[in-house]
Amino acid sequence: MFVLGHVGIGTRMLLGLRERLSIRWLVLGCLLPDLIDKPLFYGLLWTRGHPDALISGSRSVGHTGLFALALLALAFALRRPALWAVIAGVATHLGLDIGGELVAGATNDSSIWIAIFFPALGWRFPRAPFHSLVEHLRITAENLYVIAGEIVGGAILLRAWWLRRKVQSS
Ligand SMILES: [Zn+2]
Repeated sequence: MFVLGHVGIGTRMLLGLRERLSIRWLVLGCLLPDLIDKPLFYGLLWTRGHPDALISGSRSVGHTGLFALALLALAFALRRPALWAVIAGVATHLGLDIGGELVAGATNDSSIWIAIFFPALGWRFPRAPFHSLVEHLRITAENLYVIAGEIVGGAILLRAWWLRRKVQSS
């Protein structure tokens, strides 16, 4: 799933909890795993010309349970409300990514669980089933879960924007 799905659906998955969280930090959390892992994967791929041995896909460090636990420990230590919002967002991100895998399936090599349970399932991350950004976008565009997620997420955000506009102008 991409930006609209993660933000639009992700923020709504929290139901009433959403109102108690900082929306900016929540949105950041909804996108954070991809904001870390996609540039990391493509950065290494582009600078080296071949996939990194460990960072072998666009789901790595930011998609691990360890990363979520580290954020949780930080939230308990610093007691900053912003961090709780980020954690809630990251949880929805992982939930939506897992949903995508349940719907579209994955090979043993590319399963998101390899990242989530890292390093319990081996010192590796899910291998990308694509070799370039263009191929990544093409595969994604053919994935019904992603397309539906982007449409629903986009519609939710559009409706929220419209309602806010109506309130402001009345
Ligand atoms: Zn992701």
